[in-house]
Amino acid sequence: MKLFRFRGGVHPHGHKLLSNQQEIDVLPLPRRLYVPVQQHIGVPAQPVVVPGQKVLKGELIAAAQGTLSAAVHAPTSGTVVEIGPFTAPHPSGLPVTTIIIDSDGEDRWCDEQAHNTDPFSLTPQEISDRVAAAGIVGMGGATFPSALKLHLGHKQRVHTLIINGGECEPYLTCDDRLMRESADTVIDGVRIMVHAIGLEGASIAIEDNKPQAYAAMRSAAEPYPEIRVVRVPSLYPMGSEKQMIQFLTGIEVPAGTRSAEIGLLVHNVATAHAIHEAVRFARPLVSRVVTVSGGAVRNKRNLQVPIGTLVQELFDYCGLVENPARLIMGGPMMGQVIPHTRVPVVKGTSGIIALSQRELGEMQTMPCIRCGRCVGACPVGLMPLELMARVRAADFDGAIDYGLHDCISCGSCAYVCPSHLPLTQFFNFAKGELVTRDVEKRKNDYTRKLAADRQARLQREAEEKKRAAAERKAARAAAKAAKATEQETQA
Ligand code: SF4
Ligand code: SF4
Repeated sequence: MKLFRFRGGVHPHGHKLLSNQQEIDVLPLPRRLYVPVQQHIGVPAQPVVVPGQKVLKGELIAAAQGTLSAAVHAPTSGTVVEIGPFTAPHPSGLPVTTIIIDSDGEDRWCDEQAHNTDPFSLTPQEISDRVAAAGIVGMGGATFPSALKLHLGHKQRVHTLIINGGECEPYLTCDDRLMRESADTVIDGVRIMVHAIGLEGASIAIEDNKPQAYAAMRSAAEPYPEIRVVRVPSLYPMGSEKQMIQFLTGIEVPAGTRSAEIGLLVHNVATAHAIHEAVRFARPLVSRVVTVSGGAVRNKRNLQVPIGTLVQELFDYCGLVENPARLIMGGPMMGQVIPHTRVPVVKGTSGIIALSQRELGEMQTMPCIRCGRCVGACPVGLMPLELMARVRAADFDGAIDYGLHDCISCGSCAYVCPSHLPLTQFFNFAKGELVTRDVEKRKNDYTRKLAADRQARLQREAEEKKRAAAERKAARAAAKAAKATEQETQA
């Protein structure tokens, strides 16, 4: 298979051996789970349970609202104790509506489980319905509703399906362990997707720093020649959707375009596993594998964790050797800093990284020396130093001209910057400001529209009143004239 290169990229230290040596362990069931109704891109799900209600594992607790949404299910059996705002790892940093469940310790599944349905006897629509019913979202961190992606697949003439086993972020090894330990179910999920989209095959890309995962997947895929397992070099950000597409196909997805629009779909290996569970056994997405790593963690490992488990529970189980200097959900390059440990694991949580003070370092920032290293590292071909200068001057329109919207926040520029400038933070700040500006503009437009509508309504009502008064006056005059005529006739 011919492979291509993408621009830039960096080679950060992987730190993979810290957590990928042991088999996936199962976290003991927490006593209380905090399940946000929004764990996906799109519209929040709507709770369908009330406090005091008993639920079984896998039972629907919040229903999807439209297609760009995802259902949420009870991660264990127990009682709903509260529904209200709670801190969630959402980009807004705001609390989101969360369903809090006290476990009864029995972890009893609801009986809607199907028993090994043959997925290849189902229609594409039946498969995406099952995926939607299971509340599956992109588990690599993108959290786009998977059923909608499959649906786009059978609507938009997708010609290429890529399964992303890149896991290029340092520290993360959850996909590595999943591929090693569950290669058969991942391959089955991939075959189900191929069938659902009506393709002839798919390519699974795995970075060359995961030789055991590559071997396990090759062996599991051997009976299915339509499934190609491809070894790709460890080059960050290989696991980023657009870079992986470019590497495997040579196609550059234009900025602002979804890959599905040009016939390319990318799903993560953990999503393939979840699709296998949902389509064959009607099991919703209620738990996932999470890497717990970083210098502050005593026993670094991968854990099978119920959705809604607080980060603190992971640390209670794995232990800490020091207070974390920084907590990150996801990987350290593109993950999200979380403020404390009372934040729940959600469907897109691939890892919880607790960095030690030593790992974080004492990196003093210095002025830009215009060395150009950031330009060479950027996989999108931007000029990060110029972008940063525009953002610093609050010239957001200038930053847009320099490609701010194309920036994938991969952190490669900041990684190579000898002046330790927090370039990605600048860009994320600017993107946040633009979102705020856009929201404000929409609010103002809406207010202006309301005011204009009100003015038009008042004017209409005034004219209506005037017309009615004129009509009444005319009627009164006509009645008076008629009465006068009648009196004249009588006289
Ligand atoms: S790498 Fe850092 S110091 Fe070098 S040009 Fe870019 S921003 Fe400036
Ligand atoms: S964070 Fe943005 S500007 Fe920096 S390397 Fe990545 S894509 Fe380029």
